[in-house]
Order: sequence, then structure tokens, then C-alpha cells
Amino acid sequence: MSFASLGLIDPLLRNVQALDYQTPTPVQVKAIPAVLSGKDVMAAAQTGTGKTAGFALPLLQRLVQHGPAASSNRAGVLVLVPTRELAEQVLQSFIAYGKGLDLRLLAAYGGVSINPQMMKLRKGVDVLVATPGRLLDLNRQNAVQFDQVQTLVLDEADRMLDLGFARELNAIFAALPAERQTLLFSATFTDDIRAMAASILRGPVNISVSPPNATASKIRQWVVPVDKRNKPELFMHLVAENKWEHALVFVKTRKGVDYLAAMLDEAGYAIDTIHGDKPQPARLRALERFKTGEVQMLVATDVAARGLDIDDLPLVINVDLPIVAQDYVHRVGRTGRAGASGVAVSLVCADEAPQLAAIEALIRETLSREEEPGFEAEHRVPQTSTTGQIVKKPKKLKKPKVPQGAPGTVQAVGTKTGAQSGENKRKPTAQRAVAAEQGTRLSGGNPFSVKKPRGKPANGRGKSRP
Ligand code: AMP
Repeated sequence: MSFASLGLIDPLLRNVQALDYQTPTPVQVKAIPAVLSGKDVMAAAQTGTGKTAGFALPLLQRLVQHGPAASSNRAGVLVLVPTRELAEQVLQSFIAYGKGLDLRLLAAYGGVSINPQMMKLRKGVDVLVATPGRLLDLNRQNAVQFDQVQTLVLDEADRMLDLGFARELNAIFAALPAERQTLLFSATFTDDIRAMAASILRGPVNISVSPPNATASKIRQWVVPVDKRNKPELFMHLVAENKWEHALVFVKTRKGVDYLAAMLDEAGYAIDTIHGDKPQPARLRALERFKTGEVQMLVATDVAARGLDIDDLPLVINVDLPIVAQDYVHRVGRTGRAGASGVAVSLVCADEAPQLAAIEALIRETLSREEEPGFEAEHRVPQTSTTGQIVKKPKKLKKPKVPQGAPGTVQAVGTKTGAQSGENKRKPTAQRAVAAEQGTRLSGGNPFSVKKPRGKPANGRGKSRP
């Protein structure tokens, strides 16, 4: 199968060739003809499958062949994405695939000044890649109207819902012309996504290039059970032992990011960080430096998990499991892209058993556990299953029945997990994700340390938050 046989025009074929794409990927084989014919598409395609070219190439062709060019403060193709990073990356893909076509392309996202975006919209754009919040801001300020949108693309739709954009999306859908083409791409298909798809797609072509909710198949993934307080040392040990030299490292909190980055820095690694408090230009710089190899270890919170286009990343290290199971698929999707094989290792403590169970249910696979000698978990990580259940609660060590004060008396160790305490059920998902992104308010020191017992706040500053 060649790109030419999919019906693409010469300028696009030249651009694809310049990028050294030899053959279309499975999602491209199915999506390109469907999009060219003007049909709606619903695609279960995870990161790394080549989905961006799957929609960008045929949409560029339709713009060239069918026009008409969007007028002032209008867009012809609207691509909605969850994050700024993905917006920038999708824009770059459109630029590369559409080289020489003389089209007006723009990415609009928050965290940077709105004025240049408003200026560019004045002349109208052929393709507008936007995050939902900033798009609505622009719309409220009359910088963009939706009446000329011919095609709507939802890229990483599941992530947009995870991030709590449902209201913004509905507002945008309501303002779009009813007569349009709609393409929905999602790595995972939850009930919410299916409901949204049913309400916005008309007779879509269904594309599934890998089992929905599966992680890329060539990735070797395993779990290392460990006590929470030992995570930083285990992490450094694994990095040194395995001579890992280029990895994307995920940590739950901003504070955890800083802590590990400092350890890596001290050990002589070239490091950088990505988290929600970092201004957008600094995040993009960190990513660029990581891609070029100038930075060896990029330590990030969830904000970096989606949409980063890093080819052939050999290794993802989850020092903390994500709170939202889908994020695991997206994190691990950073490796093993476009056929490259990769490694994903997760350091998991007893508190994270519910997250582990949810991940295994989602990927329909029990991740193998490999304890690291010298770091065996005192608080055992309960057994999990692909039904999402925690099979066996950890056994509490019984107090030995020996007389008080007898020689060799052992103190019992409690192992209350997050599942037992209902810790993760208090807040809605998006809120929890944001809370996690904003970082812990710990009393200093190792942010991975186990919590102080209830009722005895450390330094009188209250108990730590997740
Ligand atoms: P995506 O899933 O769209 O993020 O693409 C993943 C990676 O695959 C990107 O780095 C693309 O440049 C690359 N890619 C996309 N299509 C092809 C292709 N047909 N052949 C080789 N690489 C590709």
C-alpha cells in the first residue's frame, strides 16, 4: 500500500516523501480515503499510530480542492485538542504536511497572550488548532466565528473529557454549523466518549487500528512494588543499575518533580522539568531540549503526558501511577511509537493498588511485578486483577501472642490502602487531577515519604494531601 494509492495529490505526496514516510500506517490507510470522501470518522487510535497525518493530509487536500477560503475571523477546519503542547504539535504537523500549499494555519491556546492570535484570525484561517477554553475566549471576543467551519476534528477526545472540558465542548458543538464533517479520535472509548460520539457524528466510518484501550503492543511494561518513602532511592537505583540515559519520568506532584529533578541533577544527569506552573515557552523549550538529546531526563507531571511527539523514546518511568487510568495509556504511549519498541516501568506502592487495578482493567492485562532486591515493599501491594478488583486485601501482620515486654516482641505494621480508606473517591476526577498537578503541601523533605499518623500533624502544619 502506498500513499499515492490512497488518492493523495502530488504536493502532499512530495511532503510525505520528504518526511521519509515509506508506507501509510493502518490508521492512515483507513482514515485518509474516508476523510477525503467527506465522511464522518470515529477512530480508536492511540498515540503513535500516525493518526495526525491520518486526518491532516486528507483535510489539507480538501482545503486545496474544495475551498472556499474562510473569510475574516473565520476558520474552515477546526481541530480541538486537550493541551497546549498537542496544539503546537498538531500545528507543526499541518505545516510539515502542507508545505507549499499556501494555507493559513494557526494554533490558539491559553497561557500565552491572546492578542497575536486575534490578529492572525482577522484575515481568517484555513486550519485552526485550538484548546477548548481559549477557543471560547476568542469566540466571546468576536475574534472567531464558527459559521464557516466545514470540518471539526476532536483529537484525543478522551483526554478532553478527562480534563473537564465537556461544558466547553458542548458550547462549541452548539455553535457549529449542523452541516459539517466531524472526525473523532480517541485512544480510549469510555461510555462518555461513546455518548458524545453518538450526539455529534453522522453515520461515521469506524476505525480501530488496535484493540481499544490497549497500550502499544511492542512496549515491555512492568511494575516494581516499593514502599512510598523508598521511591526516590529506588528510582535512582534503577536508573543507575540499568544505565538508563534518556527517559521521560512521571511524578504525581509538582513537588515530587522538583525533588527527583534535584536528585538527578546532583547525580550528573542533564535534566529539565515540565509541570503546570511552568510558563508555556519554558515547557516547549524543555521538550525541545529533550527531543534533541540535550536533556537526558525530562521529569513531568500529567500535563506532559499527552500529545508530546517524541520519536523512538526508549523509556517511560512512572514514579507515581496516574490518578486517571487512561493517563497510563497515554503516558506509556510516549514510547513504542510508530513501531519502535519501548520500555515502561512503574514504581507502585500499596496506596496505589486501586489505580493499578483500574489500569490493568483498562489495558486488560495484569502487569508483571518485579521486586528489586534491597527495596522489597514492607507494605505489600495487594493483588489486583483485570476486572479492576483488588483480589486480596493485604494481610495485617498479627501481633505475636507473647507476654508484654518479652524479648523479640515485634511491632505490628498496618497497611491501610487508598481503596480501604476511600481516599480517591472524595473529589471528582478532573478536580483530583488538578489538585495532583498543583502539588502536595508537605512539610518539606522527601515528598514521597509516608504520611504521618492521623491526629499528629507534622510541625503543626496539618496532614499532607495527595
Ligand atoms: P501520531 O500518532 O500522529 O502522533 O504520529 C506518531 C509518529 O509517527 C510521528 O512522529 C509521525 O511523524 C510518525 N509517522 C506518522 N505517519 C508515519 C508513516 N506513515 N511512516 C512513518 N512515520 C510516520
